[in-house]
Amino acid sequence: MAECLFCRIIAGDIPAEKVYEDEEIFAFKDIAPKAPLHVLVVPKKHIAGLEELEEGDVPLMGRIQLALRDIARDQGVADSGYRVILNCGRDAGQVVFHIHYHLLGGGQGLNLD
Ligand code: 5GP
Ligand code: ZN
Repeated sequence: MAECLFCRIIAGDIPAEKVYEDEEIFAFKDIAPKAPLHVLVVPKKHIAGLEELEEGDVPLMGRIQLALRDIARDQGVADSGYRVILNCGRDAGQVVFHIHYHLLGGGQGLNLD
């Protein structure tokens, strides 16, 4: 989607600090980190949010879980611990409507209420 911020980042139209990429998945540093490590992990396929997820997306979303784990290991937070967040809709504070997981780690900012 040409007007989607994360589609534009995936396409390379908008610069971002990439930490992982494969055929289906892209991960990059959040521009306003809420923890020492704050990575956004997204499918390359444009899916607006969890409400728009379809049965056919299940394998993709499963592979994203493994990518989250691998990125946490690569970034050095697997042993110390990390948090994975998926915001859904207005009340959760979702502002970018391309489904994404926040991966937060590094010891600070994890006790988000
Ligand atoms: P949401 O609130 O939708 O779950 O999270 C959107 C996230 O995208 C926010 O944490 C915000 O800081 C991040 N973000 C917004 N614009 C940009 C951008 O242009 N580049 C990067 N790397 N992150 C962004
Ligand atoms: Zn998109």
